[in-house]
Amino acid sequence: MSSPDETIQLDIAIVGGGSAGMTLATKLDGVSATIFEPKTATERDCSWALWAQAPQLKELAPAIRGSWNQWRLIDHAGEIIHHSHDYYYASLSSAKYLQHCETLLKSPEMMVRAPVENLLGEGGGGRFSANGQSYNAKTIYDSRPPKSEPQTLCQHFIGWEIKLTSPIENPHIATLMDFRVDQSRGLHFIYVLPYSDRHLLIESTMISNQLEDKDWYRSAIKRWLSEHGLEVESQLSEEYGVIPMAKVQPQNPDVNNIGAAGGAVRLSSGYAFSTIQAQMTMLAASIAAGTRTPTKPFSKILIFLDNVFNRALNDQTDHGVSLFMATAKALNAEQFSRFMLGRAGLVEWVRVILAMPKWPFIKSALQQLLAHD
Ligand SMILES: Cc1cc2nc3c(=O)[nH]c(=O)nc-3n(C[C@H](O)[C@H](O)[C@H](O)COP(=O)(O)OP(=O)(O)OC[C@H]3O[C@@H](n4cnc5c(N)ncnc54)[C@H](O)[C@@H]3O)c2cc1C
Repeated sequence: MSSPDETIQLDIAIVGGGSAGMTLATKLDGVSATIFEPKTATERDCSWALWAQAPQLKELAPAIRGSWNQWRLIDHAGEIIHHSHDYYYASLSSAKYLQHCETLLKSPEMMVRAPVENLLGEGGGGRFSANGQSYNAKTIYDSRPPKSEPQTLCQHFIGWEIKLTSPIENPHIATLMDFRVDQSRGLHFIYVLPYSDRHLLIESTMISNQLEDKDWYRSAIKRWLSEHGLEVESQLSEEYGVIPMAKVQPQNPDVNNIGAAGGAVRLSSGYAFSTIQAQMTMLAASIAAGTRTPTKPFSKILIFLDNVFNRALNDQTDHGVSLFMATAKALNAEQFSRFMLGRAGLVEWVRVILAMPKWPFIKSALQQLLAHD
């Protein structure tokens, strides 16, 4: 037992026990690590979705709320349905995932339930305090959410988990984007995951530079339900999220940043879970081999192409719906899954680029080349 006057010496400190921090902690072997996280898993429950193949689905089974091998995108012109043989779109309970990770920790003492304060980084490690105790760590992996930049393109949403009074028609299809909603404030769509025929996650999602009043998203959900003749029996939960779609600033650039703070959120889609899984697996292997610096989550070319896509979305909002619909139309289900996972090959990229509205995409590509960011 150490006194608060003493500084506790750590080998590895993981700051933030969310998706990245807990995943890394469960994969470490042969090193000593301590995780600092102020909140319990249930205090942070939300839905994390990803495209996964059978082995990964099996691994994530304790946290899975639903999975679908059919998904669709809809606009006023019609719908594009993908039916995959290899991939499932899966929705996890983040609380169940984090609780499962906790059960995999080598010892419960690895977890300190307190916020890290006054973090001073040097050479990948540094000093900080938590719960009135001072710590010094050789290596720090910091996953605290990055600083939010006002007025940048972001994906913002409210989601409701609801029970319905009557069943929906087809609970076997996940609706990723239904664009047949109010587009006057920015690119807007409804997202529906049927956990069963009467149990849904439904979200109103905007892609724009301006956050809306929370009642705006709620009204959009209510309107969509009413237009589909669906009545809410009970609302089980509400989640609110803002995911930046531009380069982020970590809280402290002098330590190793992982997860969203380390740039693991895909700029054009807001998805991060699969990238974080892959990055933390590689990081744990490299720590075991003696190298502690995390690899970059995405290639430069993928970041460039995502920035081009976002520029086209931001500058020419009237093309927003067609950019997403054209991407889904150009690819089959397997190609689309790989594309969304950031694992698309040349063939998929060529198909997507050829399907884009030409002038907005070329203009954005030229602007992005000149921007150097
Ligand atoms: C509501 C929401 C829904 C999302 N849905 C999806 C999705 O469906 N699919 C997907 O791929 N991505 C999704 N994302 C993107 C999301 O950012 C990532 O999936 C993921 O949570 C990022 O992992 P992370 O570890 O970087 O951050 P987090 O999981 O947010 O973990 C950061 C942790 O740091 C902790 N923390 C904060 N301050 C301190 C402090 N001072 N000291 C110590 N700890 C601290 C927080 O409590 C938190 O637990 C979603 C994001 C949000 C906000």
